[in-house]
Amino acid sequence: MKKKNRTQQPWWFLDYGYQTKAALVKEIRKIVRSYSNGTVLRKDDDWLMRQIFKRHREYAVKEGAGIKSIEVRTNEAQSDTRGFWINRIDGTSVDISWPKCLNPEGEYTLETEVHAAARCDVEHLIEKYWEKPRTRVCILCGKPCLYWRTKTHVASINPSFKELMNSFLKEMGLTYDDIIVESSDFRSSISDRRIREEWKAFYAENAVLDLVHATCNRKRKRK
Ligand SMILES: [Zn+2]
Repeated sequence: MKKKNRTQQPWWFLDYGYQTKAALVKEIRKIVRSYSNGTVLRKDDDWLMRQIFKRHREYAVKEGAGIKSIEVRTNEAQSDTRGFWINRIDGTSVDISWPKCLNPEGEYTLETEVHAAARCDVEHLIEKYWEKPRTRVCILCGKPCLYWRTKTHVASINPSFKELMNSFLKEMGLTYDDIIVESSDFRSSISDRRIREEWKAFYAENAVLDLVHATCNRKRKRK
C-alpha cells in the first residue's frame, strides 16, 4: 500500500517530541524496567502508552470494552521478556506488543483504522442500497449476481472508497493524522461528530454504489 497524505516528519516527533524513534524506544524500555510485574502504570506513563497502543493494527480488538489500566507483566509466550498488558473495564486482560505499534508497517495502520471507522459510519447507506439496487449484475464482470447477498458486496468502485476518503480529507483540509477513531469491540467510528456527519454527507453525495461479486471485488483490491 502506498503511503499518502503523510507529513515528512514522523509522528513520534510531531506528537510527542522524540527526535528519533530510538529515543522513544529508549523511553518505553525505561518505563517497562521501572515497574515490577503486576504493577499498574502511573498517570504519565499510562497516558503515553495509551497513545502508542492506538498505533497497533489490532487496537480495536485489544482495546475491547475499553482500557481500565495498563500493567507490566512477563509475556506468556516468551517467559524471559516483559511487556504491557491491558486491563479492560470488563475485567478481562490482554497483552499488547509495543514494538508492533512502532514498526514501519504501523505507518499505514492509522490509514487502515480510519478506513475501517469511516466504513462503519456509512454502513447504513450500504444497507439502504440493498433495498433498491440499480441492477442485479456485477459492475466488474457484468455477470448476474446469482447468489444474492451471500456472495455479493455493495461497493463504490469508481470512485473507490480510498479515493472518496482522500477527496474528503482534501476538501476538509485534513490528513489521516487529524482523524481520531473511537472503537468498541468490532465496531469503530470517527470520533469527532462534525467530521463524522460531514463524511456521511460526502459519501452519500459522491459514492457510486453498485453490486459486485465478492470474488471480483477481492481481485480488484489485489491489483
Ligand atoms: Zn463479478
